[in-house]
Amino acid sequence: MARTRKPVVEVRRSQRRRRTVSAYREGERVVVLIPDRFSRAEETEWVARMLARLAAREERVQRTDSELLGRARKLISRYLPDYASHMVPASVRWVTNQNGRWGSCTPDDGTIRISHRIQEMPDWVIDYVLLHELAHLVVPDHSAAFWELVNRYPRAERARGYLEGISAATGLVLADD
Ligand SMILES: [Zn+2]
Repeated sequence: MARTRKPVVEVRRSQRRRRTVSAYREGERVVVLIPDRFSRAEETEWVARMLARLAAREERVQRTDSELLGRARKLISRYLPDYASHMVPASVRWVTNQNGRWGSCTPDDGTIRISHRIQEMPDWVIDYVLLHELAHLVVPDHSAAFWELVNRYPRAERARGYLEGISAATGLVLADD
């Protein structure tokens, strides 16, 4: 991942802001919102401080394979508890060689692979893709029984919309496989 690169910072001054400073990522950039009355020195100081804070926050939620497996376990106990006893995934991991799909599952050997393309997406989107693949451990096809399981996830519809939007915007044809 590109986290070691120095980010491009865009400082936005706001007259409405009096004291609060905030920062967030917007694509490749980091946007830092500061009060308009800040001096250049205060701006420099706060940009450095916010970049450090953002880096620390991202460090904490690093998305590794073991984090992904932990996430899978939580999703099973929360949304598929009735199948928990016989659906232990053999492996859940991030892969970079899966260009046509967000995720895939091989029910026969219980392995699940999630595309690195969604690694930077919001938690609730990752959870949707993961739950989708976990549900395939119970129902391999896309029948009504399958969607019944997936739709236990409250943001399933919204996540599908989000992923469709990404596909349209990037010109990628990515299926929900
Ligand atoms: Zn599927």
